[in-house]
Amino acid sequence: MKVLVINAGSSSLKYQLFDMTNENVLCSGIVERIGLDGSRLVHKLNGQKHVKDQEVKDHRVALKIVLEILTDKTYGVIGSMKEIDAVGHRVVHGGETFSGSVLIDEKVMKALEDNIELAPLHNPPNIMGIKAAKELLPDVPHVGTFDTAFHQTLPKKAYLYAIPLRYYEKYKIRRYGFHGTSHFYVSHRTAEILGRPIEELKIITCHIGNGSSVAAVKYGKSIDTSMGFTPLEGLVMGTRSGDLDPAIVTFLQEKEHLSYKEINNILNKESGAYGLSNGLSSDMRDIENAALEDHNEVAKLALDIYDYRIAKYVGAYAAAMNGVDAIAFTAGVGENSPYTRADVCSYLEFLGLKIDNAKNNIRGKEAIISTEDSKVKALVVPTNEELVIARDTQKIAKSIKK
Ligand code: ADP
Repeated sequence: MKVLVINAGSSSLKYQLFDMTNENVLCSGIVERIGLDGSRLVHKLNGQKHVKDQEVKDHRVALKIVLEILTDKTYGVIGSMKEIDAVGHRVVHGGETFSGSVLIDEKVMKALEDNIELAPLHNPPNIMGIKAAKELLPDVPHVGTFDTAFHQTLPKKAYLYAIPLRYYEKYKIRRYGFHGTSHFYVSHRTAEILGRPIEELKIITCHIGNGSSVAAVKYGKSIDTSMGFTPLEGLVMGTRSGDLDPAIVTFLQEKEHLSYKEINNILNKESGAYGLSNGLSSDMRDIENAALEDHNEVAKLALDIYDYRIAKYVGAYAAAMNGVDAIAFTAGVGENSPYTRADVCSYLEFLGLKIDNAKNNIRGKEAIISTEDSKVKALVVPTNEELVIARDTQKIAKSIKK
């Protein structure tokens, strides 16, 4: 079975075509700058990039271009669109409606539209991607996999905020959590690498990328996570503030005469590592280089605050689970920064965690990076959200064929 996985963002559309007989990625790519100047397709095949500059006015056009390249004589990997058996879509917000992947029918489309209010930036492009794909590939099953789904097992004590309960009842204000597909994949892979059943393990997964979150995965279920009602809460991120005293919001609004939109923009786009480093960069590679090579003090402070926040969450989640067996690092920074991993782990020696500096000196591949005698294991586990989406899509597509 061949499964096309689509991740439609506000101005981009990423794709991967899987051959599920061996879970191989046949090709992948991205259409960038949809609806903007300078839009283009970057198609990856056999480790080579093929770039095509082309006007792309919307997600439908973007997907048409993807389907054309998939069937192209030179750069394609399939003879015709008929070889695509199912399509899996990444959807950011499933609200309280979805705790697993689903076949996208009319009822699901309606539920997705109902959830727009919860994810105004993310769900509309996801919906556009689904609509375009259903139109261009009408005869195959379309499956939705939600970033929030894995966290639907959070208990009430973890997901309710201490504001009047009526706001949960009226607006569904609660912790949803995000990056769920990644936390699911990484926690399961961690158990496999350790050779132990996930049902016996207390795992803390640290998805540290541009957007970042930590999850407490107890016996295979997410019981707490650092992102909340929106992806703004929790860790210090590239440009997002993460946790802060909510009174700062109203204080700043009053002092600086800021509208709701402006304060929202400051917290989402001008804060985090970028804000702390006085606008030096939101990219942790730049911050690390400036801090460690150029001895830039502001960058070093940004890096310290960034790592410290991660360590605090790991400590909190060890308490939430009354113990921890393994801590796994994933995503751009988690997979590629030995410095941040070592710095975070340096706060966690009290848990019995000992990092092996030689083993930690790796980028982008699976490894146990703690010492043999470390009580708590530390690991690097590159995430693979697309594979989870492809597997779920295959499972659901097969089940409806029966
Ligand atoms: P997104 O949330 O956009 O998917 P990624 O998971 O791709 O983000 O992570 C992007 C982040 O990973 C950037 O801050 C980037 O600098 C960081 N990163 C990538 N490689 C390295 C590296 N070698 N050292 C430190 N940070 C890195």
